[in-house]
Amino acid sequence: MRQNEGPSTRSVHLCRCVDPNTRAIVPPLIENVAFAYEDIATWRAVALHQAPGDIYSRNSNPTTSAFEEKVAALEGAESATSFATGMAAVSTTLFALLGPSQRAVSVRDAYGATYLHFAQILPRFGVICEVCETEDHEAIEVAIEQGCDVLYLESPTNPTLKVLDLARLSAAAKKVGAITVVDNTFATPINQSPVALGADLVIHSATKFLCGHGDVLGGVVCGRKDLVEKIYRHRELTGPSLDAHSAFLLLRSLKTLGLRMERHNENALALARFLEKQSQVERVYYPGLESHPGHEIARRQMHGFGGVLSFEIKGGFEAVTRFLPRLRYAYMAANLGQVETIVGPPATTSHVELTDEERAAAGVPEGLIRYAVGIEDVEDLKADLEQALAGL
Ligand SMILES: *Cc1c(COP(=O)(O)O)cnc(C)c1O
Repeated sequence: MRQNEGPSTRSVHLCRCVDPNTRAIVPPLIENVAFAYEDIATWRAVALHQAPGDIYSRNSNPTTSAFEEKVAALEGAESATSFATGMAAVSTTLFALLGPSQRAVSVRDAYGATYLHFAQILPRFGVICEVCETEDHEAIEVAIEQGCDVLYLESPTNPTLKVLDLARLSAAAKKVGAITVVDNTFATPINQSPVALGADLVIHSATKFLCGHGDVLGGVVCGRKDLVEKIYRHRELTGPSLDAHSAFLLLRSLKTLGLRMERHNENALALARFLEKQSQVERVYYPGLESHPGHEIARRQMHGFGGVLSFEIKGGFEAVTRFLPRLRYAYMAANLGQVETIVGPPATTSHVELTDEERAAAGVPEGLIRYAVGIEDVEDLKADLEQALAGL
């Protein structure tokens, strides 16, 4: 076997395990709440984590454990724990790691619901939260030096694909003893390895690219074993666990992650370059473009630039409302990371809760469209965009 297996080989073969009872290649779906024991001593040893095994599926289940092991392996992490949604992963991580008068540093372009944890929820519990301008690395470093227990980052961000230097910022966090958490949903473990760049924990909304088919909600946190253990303890008590059936579907999805990301990356880069040349398009946001302000950092820390791009068309929001329904392949919907192309304006997706003024202040132009590129043939997507732009 090669020393550095490729991403598709890793997606297919990591954690392979033929079931000893059935000889099945596919990890079986154990859709089962409780596990029975024949004597109290063994049962107690398992319950006290002194022996391997499962007791009750809110705590652990063989199918969800198989999913956790696979994500940890893909991320190069020691350990992982899974959740019913991406937000359950984010929220549980923050509540497990932070308490009154502790300090968290994050960025303004974090996922909407995540941002509101720092802006509204955590401050109610006495956590001091500092939200910095996303691309201002100096300001983030100053905030870290002023005292930081958890540094929470996301790269690339939604919807303008801003890029953060993960190695630089996690090094600054390490200096003050802070834990660095990176939401790697947009990049996936195929395109970016935050653990190798210095992060202590990596979070995914498994709903997006890890699932890839728009039929499962899920979340996962992986990284340092002691921290994952702490988060798992919190999840055990609060209960937002991933169910076995969802884990089974996610395990199926992960086998094609390398293959899907290769196509998402290729399609997105080709369409970004195509859109940049169109006269009806004001600006394209994609970290793979040389014109993107974060391109140099992205080239250093990413293996591919991902399946999401956004672009601004001339004519503002009125033009957007005419343009989007003309697209034949793209669904107008709120998800991303699916095999189907999905589009939407930030005004109805990521930034729906903000006023027009707040969106402008956040640097989200009225004519912006988030285009989550699917795995269709790129020439078809190009022709579709061409005819829709021609109608403007
Ligand atoms: C969607 C998303 C989440 C939240 O995930 P859910 O599964 O919808 O709860 C968190 N972070 C990012 C970057 C996302 O895109």
